[in-house]
Amino acid sequence: MAHNAECPDCGNMRALFNQCPHCGSVNFPILSSDTIELNIKQDGPYVEEALERLTDYLRKSLEVGIKAIVLIHGYGSSGEGGRIKWAIHDALENNRYSDRVDEYHFGEDVAFGSESYHALLKRRPGLKRYLKRFKEGNADMTVLLLGSQARSA
Ligand SMILES: [Zn+2]
Repeated sequence: MAHNAECPDCGNMRALFNQCPHCGSVNFPILSSDTIELNIKQDGPYVEEALERLTDYLRKSLEVGIKAIVLIHGYGSSGEGGRIKWAIHDALENNRYSDRVDEYHFGEDVAFGSESYHALLKRRPGLKRYLKRFKEGNADMTVLLLGSQARSA
């Protein structure tokens, strides 16, 4: 499931970073919060594609003032979903996105109802409506907190 938002030009719902399928607009959709959910594995990209896409999404997100991203990357020990997850974990731990991502929390580390989960929500209440659907376990997502140290390009 992709994150959808209202098209600023025709008012239809559309995916965040793509051209509007209804009117062709490339203007950024209207957001009701500074938190979004992004599904990086949606159309089955290869690992390197997914990592590059994330770079692009992070840049665009910062441009429009997004503060937190619930990144859906899939999971599993085999298959492309699993590879994307580990590649993203690896990239984060090796500071590939550190100029844009202030903090990251792997889903496993902020299990629903845990102390770390509540601590995170206290700081970013906007995450609640996204995280509550991960009650059954959230190994397929990572929470990214963006920006106070973002470069003003
Ligand atoms: Zn439109």
